[in-house]
Amino acid sequence: MLQEHFFSCSGLSGSYEKLEIPPDDLPDWMDRWQEHQLDGFNVTIPYKIQMLASMKRISPEADFIGAVNTVLVKSDGLYGENTDSYGFIAPLSPEVKASLAGADVVVLGAGGACRAVAYALLKKGVKNITFWIRNPERAQATLQLVQSMNRYLRDGEAGLFLKTTLEPAELVTARMLVNTTPVGMSPNIEAMPLDANCISSLPENALVYDLIYNPLETRLLKASRERGLVTCDGLDMLIYQGARAFTHWTGAALTTEDLQAARPLLLNAMSFPVKH
Ligand code: NAP
Repeated sequence: MLQEHFFSCSGLSGSYEKLEIPPDDLPDWMDRWQEHQLDGFNVTIPYKIQMLASMKRISPEADFIGAVNTVLVKSDGLYGENTDSYGFIAPLSPEVKASLAGADVVVLGAGGACRAVAYALLKKGVKNITFWIRNPERAQATLQLVQSMNRYLRDGEAGLFLKTTLEPAELVTARMLVNTTPVGMSPNIEAMPLDANCISSLPENALVYDLIYNPLETRLLKASRERGLVTCDGLDMLIYQGARAFTHWTGAALTTEDLQAARPLLLNAMSFPVKH
């Protein structure tokens, strides 16, 4: 649906189809990449990390994030990209993007998506990122990748902190709170990744961003909106990461209007639950 919309906007012909490849068949499918006659493909969980090993070239972004979600088929092999980082940051207004320089950001979770978020935040010049995690051992791999990004992008100048509990002091200076956990996602739409009291600790100018797009307004976003905070759901991230992949494959640039038109199309197609 999304890629078909982009084909139509750019006047190009092409198709984008879902291929379900069982894990045991993937090595053989990857070995025969030339036979499939594709210009490119997306990769979803659980193959995003495994895909790195099959790439002829990997962009610095995909390398630092440690995952490939977009593959370009070139004559000499497969090129791996990661468009999640762009997808995360691109929907934000120029004012919000500019305000991230020197800002404190709190990120809930430390899994795959969090790495793309951290890459984008470091590129924007944030001062500190505090990761709220439930399991320090599982968060270590992400922390190490984010530390390497920090050295590469910023000469290690951003402060990176792992916390298993969030104190109001960590929230009172936060310019942005980002939920990268699946907590609150359908069907568990009543769940909140952090206590409602934490939302009251955020400053008035804080933006609350939830990567979840089903439901569109999670309980976290609803509570934040009711407190008067600006919120951002995950649907535009989905659209922008897809648009970036489309441009990688075709070289065609999409306009802001093309991207904005994708949102109602997806909302119609996906019939999200609206009840909270
Ligand atoms: P992931 O790799 O499984 O990471 C999830 C993170 O959340 C891990 O740190 C995990 O901690 C933590 N977590 C899971 N359940 C939790 C709970 N009950 N309480 C506290 N922490 C919990 O998943 P992902 O790929 O990063 O995706 C995360 C979310 O982002 C999903 O909802 C996904 O749909 C969304 N997403 C959206 C977009 C978009 O385009 N909008 C793109 C990518 C992802 P442990 O390690 O301890 O399990």
